Amino acid sequence: MDISVVIPLFNEEESLPELAAWIERVMKEHDFSYEIIFVDDGSTDNSWKTIHELSAANPAIHGVSFRRNYGKSPALNTGFAIAGGDVVITMDADLQDSPDEIPELYRMIVRDGNDLVSGWKKKRYDPLSKTIPTKLFNATARKVSGIHNLHDFNCGLKAYRNEVVKHIEVYGDMHRYIPYLAKNAGFDRIAEKVVQHRARKYGVTKFGLDRFVNGYLDLATLWFTGRFGAKPMHFFGLLGSLMFVVGLIAVMAVGFGKLYNMYHGNPYTLVTDSPYFFLSLTMMILGTMLFLTGFIGELIVRNSPDRNHYEIKEKI
Ligand code: UDP
Ligand code: MG
Repeated sequence: MDISVVIPLFNEEESLPELAAWIERVMKEHDFSYEIIFVDDGSTDNSWKTIHELSAANPAIHGVSFRRNYGKSPALNTGFAIAGGDVVITMDADLQDSPDEIPELYRMIVRDGNDLVSGWKKKRYDPLSKTIPTKLFNATARKVSGIHNLHDFNCGLKAYRNEVVKHIEVYGDMHRYIPYLAKNAGFDRIAEKVVQHRARKYGVTKFGLDRFVNGYLDLATLWFTGRFGAKPMHFFGLLGSLMFVVGLIAVMAVGFGKLYNMYHGNPYTLVTDSPYFFLSLTMMILGTMLFLTGFIGELIVRNSPDRNHYEIKEKI
């Protein structure tokens, strides 16, 4: 099969028939063999019923329905697990992404040998409250991930080589950083395509402004797990030792200063009268705690079932 289209959705009943018809038309025009996988993320409207009807009319349409609303990432992950096409394309269900982009996305994977092609909604039809923070968010994501050629990490319209989706795990809210997940898994041929974006026709957006706070927290997590996930002591140990040593030197300076003054008969004060004494103590305590956190991290890693799991590219 050439293409699997994976579509996560939550309460999008009005859009589904139009979207399915549009994808079918594009696939027919370009003679692709395909499947459409709708992942119903616990919708409370008639979405699932609509998917049943669509599937009855076209055997290439499949669906999975969650018992409750888990989120876009779990929906994508579930779709990825069953996608059988050579190229896997994800798109939002709300008709904001255009299926007309599919043929070129497909070619950019198959012809150009990319692992992942991410859409770029260069001209967006979203409110300003969303587009401005998004710019900032993408600039940070570029810097932290080291993927400098992407302008729009969180675009719902993306294409993957099948192998890629089978080797990444999208969980929590990590769908915002799939290119970063792919890069951490060793798939670094990541390209971008400017795609059309349309205003939402039916329904409402499912994400509020908390997306930006959570987005940044998730970015910090990915940075940490990508770099130190297998060796937490390298992070906590360095930080902890540095703090401890600086604190120790400072507390010794305070103590020796007092002894020096005593010895020479100068006026002196109690060490506990110096704010530096308390600052240094705090640093030593925090340093020790960070160091111990490193040990605990190492114990956890030692017990993790995939501590010695590596993605092997080829064997001869
Ligand atoms: N979505 C989902 N589960 C959720 C929230 C959203 O499957 O818990 C789907 C939603 O139905 C849509 C896509 O994720 O197909 C993108 O959501 P939305 O259009 O609300 O996001 P926006 O375009 O506003 O960023
Ligand atoms: Mg949308």
